[in-house]
Amino acid sequence: MDPETFRRFGHEAVDWVADYLQGVERYPVLSPLSPGEVRGKIPANCPQTGESMETILKDFQEIILPGITHWNHPRFFAYFPANNSGPSILAELLSAGLGVNAMLWQTSPAATELEEAVMDWLRQMLGLPEGFRGVIQDTASTATLCALLCAREQLSQFQINAGGLSSWCERGALRVYASQEAHSSVEKGVKIAGLGARNLVPISVDDAYGLDPEDLERRVREDRERGFLPCCVVATVGTTSSTALDPLQPIGEIARRHGLWFHVDAALAGSAAILPEMRWILEGIEQADSLVFNPHKWLFTNFDCSAFFCRHPQALTATFSILPEYLKTDLDRQVTNFRDWGIQLGRRFRALKLWFVLRYYGLDGLQERLREHLSLAQEFKGWIEESADFEVLAPVPLNTICFRFNPRKGASQAALSPEDLEGLNKAILDEVNHSRTIFITHTRLAGAFCLRLCIGQTQTRQEHVVAAWEALQGCGVVRGYR
Ligand code: PLP
Repeated sequence: MDPETFRRFGHEAVDWVADYLQGVERYPVLSPLSPGEVRGKIPANCPQTGESMETILKDFQEIILPGITHWNHPRFFAYFPANNSGPSILAELLSAGLGVNAMLWQTSPAATELEEAVMDWLRQMLGLPEGFRGVIQDTASTATLCALLCAREQLSQFQINAGGLSSWCERGALRVYASQEAHSSVEKGVKIAGLGARNLVPISVDDAYGLDPEDLERRVREDRERGFLPCCVVATVGTTSSTALDPLQPIGEIARRHGLWFHVDAALAGSAAILPEMRWILEGIEQADSLVFNPHKWLFTNFDCSAFFCRHPQALTATFSILPEYLKTDLDRQVTNFRDWGIQLGRRFRALKLWFVLRYYGLDGLQERLREHLSLAQEFKGWIEESADFEVLAPVPLNTICFRFNPRKGASQAALSPEDLEGLNKAILDEVNHSRTIFITHTRLAGAFCLRLCIGQTQTRQEHVVAAWEALQGCGVVRGYR
């Protein structure tokens, strides 16, 4: 593509994105397509000869756009946010233009040094101790896998890296501990690290769905007595289901006493710690070996951008460093080469979008938006508590509310069976999501089916949360009971 054609379509694309973000509410938040509809419109083979940008962009509008679920719609309340922002999108464009591979310092000094700088800004914003150093990973799943691999190598004194798991198996299985509410990425990481899903020990939770430290201590002791090798504990700050908070202080003490690597998964909730009044969610973090949180979830930075902090980066480099001749540079002793801090060699220049976002909003601007989300969550929770037939099913420390419709709430009539409640709430979920005006998802807490509403999109304001509440109350299933 010649520069003038690029310029022309570049302007058109930027205009399109600006209009899209301005008018995103026009779209149905959840894509209405059925499975196979998009695939059916895409030819089975790559075109033999090139096509015009006009044709490609037309197909983007006609084929792709209807198959998009609009994560940045202000009435997207499903899963967790993946919020973006103008400065982040512009930085992504520039980064794509530069086409940098930030694998070594030398392959773009600015990419490495900016990453070091912005990760230190984030460290300070979260109140992490000075010794923590940060690296940007693609996702929290990757960061957690890196932590598990470091834990494995620390315990085996790098024997597993050297001789493989088979050289280690006679000494006993390595065990990993995480609450029953931990994210599935912990189990996936345990499997990929070759530790075996059976060696992930589920720790029970308290009434607020936070990890019970007494159960952790007991399980670690029992494992030692049975010849297992306790290796790592993963605490979650903000579980995926209900944003429950594991108590870091006692977990850290147990980890220290038993020589466990202590990893903290704060994928969603970490962003809230930039608020001084919320910093308590990371109380005890100084004992952690590593922490991950995702600016690509709740800090207005386009997917993907996951901030991984480690108290001893030499554990990362000792685990991941590989130095073939063709990657050596004369400056290797003086500089950071982030290829040694994780799994990939090639790395995107993600620090640029983080830098743009942090500078454009400033700490005050970011805090203001997060405070608004937290306060809207409390407001929504209040409406449910006041209602005659909806009930809250878990504490709401952050931006996510787990709740259900229960027409016999507090009534003198016999309570509905769990199966009936589940059927009713599934029907509500289907109905409101089919309306395409809001998108919410579900989870299960202590066996009970819950509706789940998570507030965190860039453009979400009170009117959108009100619309969600109205959609729930106005749906046929609910009206049928009133
Ligand atoms: N950990 C927690 C607590 C999460 O909520 C999520 C999000 O789904 C993840 C990890 C996985 O995040 P990622 O998609 O960045 O791997």
